[in-house]
Amino acid sequence: MEGQRAFDFKDHDRGVSTGTQWLESKGASIASYSPVDGNYIGTVTATDKDTYEKVIEKATTAFQEWRQWPAPRRGEIVRQLGDAFRANKTELGKLVSYEMGKSLQEGLGEVQEIIDICDFAVGLSRQLYGLTMPSERPLHRLYEQYHPLGVVGVISAFNFPVAVWSWNSMLAWVCGDVCVWKPSEKTPMCAVACQSIVAGVFKENNVPEGVSCLVMGGRDVGGWLSEDRRIPLISATGSTAMGRAVGVAVAKRMGRSLLELGGNNAMIISEKADLNMALMASVFGAVGTAGQRCTTTRRLIVHEAIYESMKQKLVKAYGQLRIGDPLDKSNHLGPLIDKAAVGDYLAAIDQCKREGGTFLVEGGVLEGVGYESGCYVRPCIAEVRNHYAVVQHETFAPILYIMKYKTVEEAIHMQNDVPQGLSSAMMTLDLREAELFLSSAGSDCGIANVNAGTSGAEIGGAFGGEKETGGGRESGSDAWKVYMRRQTNTINYATNLPMAQGITFDL
Ligand code: NAD
Repeated sequence: MEGQRAFDFKDHDRGVSTGTQWLESKGASIASYSPVDGNYIGTVTATDKDTYEKVIEKATTAFQEWRQWPAPRRGEIVRQLGDAFRANKTELGKLVSYEMGKSLQEGLGEVQEIIDICDFAVGLSRQLYGLTMPSERPLHRLYEQYHPLGVVGVISAFNFPVAVWSWNSMLAWVCGDVCVWKPSEKTPMCAVACQSIVAGVFKENNVPEGVSCLVMGGRDVGGWLSEDRRIPLISATGSTAMGRAVGVAVAKRMGRSLLELGGNNAMIISEKADLNMALMASVFGAVGTAGQRCTTTRRLIVHEAIYESMKQKLVKAYGQLRIGDPLDKSNHLGPLIDKAAVGDYLAAIDQCKREGGTFLVEGGVLEGVGYESGCYVRPCIAEVRNHYAVVQHETFAPILYIMKYKTVEEAIHMQNDVPQGLSSAMMTLDLREAELFLSSAGSDCGIANVNAGTSGAEIGGAFGGEKETGGGRESGSDAWKVYMRRQTNTINYATNLPMAQGITFDL
């Protein structure tokens, strides 16, 4: 596989790094196999506790220096990182596709997201604005400034093995923070590749060792980060179960957490929609990345007047989907990440049937030539009711639930009536419906789109969701503020000491 050849993993099999140096660790071996063909990619060593301590010490020391680099100078490092990722886009994109199983286009798209967030962060490095407010006291200046926060722990999920890290790290770096990244144990090689690219730029610019750290392992290492008082911010992306554990651990020590957790995203298709657009958006949203995006369309809420015709269109479209090697551009979807994910998919189909769901397009595991990894499944569609337990839960696979509605208020209620609140969409050409959907009485999600699908966010907006999705926001807009500490400053340039609120104090 070309994706495998692009990086020489033999030199990096330890998997623990403080920037330009790779550290020995005595943890367990983590082998990475591609879900594309089941072949071995490489092995890293999980970080043991002693090595973890060395990494955090290094990061803590590096922060003392890095926070004093002027922000635009830190931005210049990130600018060079953007160029380095541009130069490695093809190779890294192939590796993402091969190790995670998403299409090559999506693998390249992830690297493009790194490049885009680098560009965004470079501009940000000359902003990071605080406000100046009028003071109520004469001859006083009242303003706020944002200071670097410290060590930022980044725990990331397998499905966006490189982009999520970059959304956090590039912003954190221009903000003056240092990062310790714990990638998913399912995609360690993508992390090793990113760290290798960063190392080249950091070495050339004498960036302090410890600004970009990498640790490897599963939930135990994630737990060390979450409980570590030396880490003021943990940014964690993954399942709601993970977020609950991390959120509680961080809250116990009064730390800050940025949680980006599971979604259960719905698209409402009005009878007043452009139905061709609705069809395209729903099929791409449901089967893209084999249903393994946090923003995957999981529920279709369709107006009763067009319900039957929409069903027929969907069944026909699903009949045309090509499933296979994601590095082959002619395929629409590749495999699930591993056999455990296939097990979850099959269990959800069983549960759906037990709860009364009817399958319009049957699921199943694909076998035979090209499907040897055992991770390829058929995207399927089931007619359901919104309250089914299986529908209320996020199954990370291409299972699309479809249900009908009569009034727009009912549709919005159904869309909101799940524990998660990440992404949502309404397909309609009716202005009143669209505005209602986007109003305070509309979608309760962090992302709400009209005539655009639930997946495919741009880096310029703040990304994240409400309720069990965790409430965090990262990437664009003012998401950078979570990586900094706000300080309010008052300067008195008078010769007396007036008090606020008109209080007098005489001695
Ligand atoms: P996961 O929860 O199994 O693992 C995510 C990361 O958390 C991994 O690095 C893992 O090692 C770590 N982890 C797991 N349990 C932990 C614990 N108790 N303490 C500390 N760390 C722990 O998730 P996954 O299967 O890798 O990814 C899929 C999930 O991620 C889906 O639910 C998806 O919706 C979600 N996701 C959300 C977003 C978002 O921005 N909202 C983006 C991508 C993925």
